[in-house]
Amino acid sequence: MVTEAGAFWNTKSLAEMTTEEWESVCDGCGRCCLHKLQDEDSGLMFYTNVACRLLDRERCRCRNYPQRMAIVHDCLSLAADAGARFNWLPLSCAYRRLANRQSLEWWHPLVSGDPNTVHQAGISVRGRTVPEASVLKERLEDHIIHWVDF
Ligand code: SF4
Ligand code: SF4
Repeated sequence: MVTEAGAFWNTKSLAEMTTEEWESVCDGCGRCCLHKLQDEDSGLMFYTNVACRLLDRERCRCRNYPQRMAIVHDCLSLAADAGARFNWLPLSCAYRRLANRQSLEWWHPLVSGDPNTVHQAGISVRGRTVPEASVLKERLEDHIIHWVDF
């Protein structure tokens, strides 16, 4: 039996992970799939509760992960060597946490063994988003949220 201390996410860097390990690090919160706004003057970024059109708002997973970059042109692909640039991701994001040498929280599915704990802990965006199609682009500002720390 592998103890949590000996688990790959505690012993390997993000760059050393296999593709399967890398993908399993995503906790399925869906937070990074919310639209964001950036103030042109200050550079400050704001999260909104508006979900990307490909986000399954109940499962909090991308509905077409393999093709996502071709369908949603501003979908950002995370790269293992980009740790320093993860600062736009939520503080709860497992990639950001591991890049910052923090452990995974109890609710992370790799730790809990249960994909539902990310929802039960109130980390995922389930039940907290509106569909992209319901919001005019010029009204995105009305949807700024403060429950995602980053
Ligand atoms: S914020 Fe991080 S952990 Fe959450 S869905 Fe996005 S990549 Fe996965
Ligand atoms: S295309 Fe998929 S992975 Fe990319 S932001 Fe949208 S829902 Fe998230």
